[in-house]
Amino acid sequence: MMHDLAIIGGGVAGMTAAIYAARAGINTVIIEKAGFGGQAALTAKIENYPSIKEIEGFELAANMKMQVDALGVESRSADVTGVEKADGVFHIATTDGDIEAKAAIIANGVRRRELGIEGEERLRGRGISWCAVCDGGFFRKKKVAVIGAGNSALGDAIYLSNLCEEVYLIYRRPYPTATKSYMDALEGLENVHLMPRHIPLEIMGENRVSALKIKNLDTDEESELEVNGIFEAIGLIPDNDVFANVVELDQNGYIVADDEMRTKTEGLFAAGDTRQKHLRQIVTACADGAIAATAAQEYLSR
Ligand SMILES: Cc1cc2nc3c(=O)[nH]c(=O)nc-3n(C[C@H](O)[C@H](O)[C@H](O)COP(=O)(O)OP(=O)(O)OC[C@H]3O[C@@H](n4cnc5c(N)ncnc54)[C@H](O)[C@@H]3O)c2cc1C
Repeated sequence: MMHDLAIIGGGVAGMTAAIYAARAGINTVIIEKAGFGGQAALTAKIENYPSIKEIEGFELAANMKMQVDALGVESRSADVTGVEKADGVFHIATTDGDIEAKAAIIANGVRRRELGIEGEERLRGRGISWCAVCDGGFFRKKKVAVIGAGNSALGDAIYLSNLCEEVYLIYRRPYPTATKSYMDALEGLENVHLMPRHIPLEIMGENRVSALKIKNLDTDEESELEVNGIFEAIGLIPDNDVFANVVELDQNGYIVADDEMRTKTEGLFAAGDTRQKHLRQIVTACADGAIAATAAQEYLSR
């Protein structure tokens, strides 16, 4: 069946685009490979979405998905593996078969950066995590290390401090780079140990993580920190190689789109964290989604 609009990615950008498109009477399919809500759904607490003082990320995402469903948008669980445009139609290859649409919005967000150190590949799924909210429960009353110094890392450390016996926060810089609210929340948490000027060298363990080899950058001293789990929170990177044939990517791999979210391919739009932009937040991702859907509507009506 030919759809008017296909949205790739069911994060807040994609879901907002779906809401706007459905309300405009556009026959829409939204394709999500993991869980609807994307990064927002994995965030413990959101305090900067206008009109909502505080909400769990999962709840915000679930509310949005209910709204999408209530508007009759078709949801598909699949990984998009390629997009091509031929004779004015987008052919979207997915792990659940091909989808055809007259217009498309790429809203695939970003993926988490990995450390790339020894032991990471071997012990993947055996004590290494990129999501404290998802996996923290497996480390109840255990010792864990969080790698990173930004909002994500501090958010993870704060969240894990309620579950774990000890939390070691390891970062290269002299000070965390997180915003004041995270720094304030960290204060007084006796089981969170800040370890500035340290870098991870190797994740150790036979079948599961048992220690992290670290290096003190001021003394060059190497040591082993006994931990059961490692949470990596060292940033996010785009994942757009699969779309490189139909969009322009900047030097960092983000999709280049104009103010109307139009890419270099007519009828193809980009929204949210995946595109080149200054501020990657829920409110800006939602705004992108709304603009992209409106631009898609104009394209379709032409
Ligand atoms: C730990 C953390 C805390 C944060 N806290 C805040 C906060 O407090 N306030 C705030 O405003 N922002 C916060 N952010 C940022 C905010 O979550 C993001 O800017 C926003 O959610 C981006 O939404 P998105 O829809 O563009 O992308 P994403 O949320 O990344 O969603 C993209 C979706 O596309 C799917 N996808 C990817 N590739 C494919 C494919 N090939 N096929 C099908 N589906 C695909 C993914 O599975 C994902 O669900 C936080 C981010 C993190 C990581």
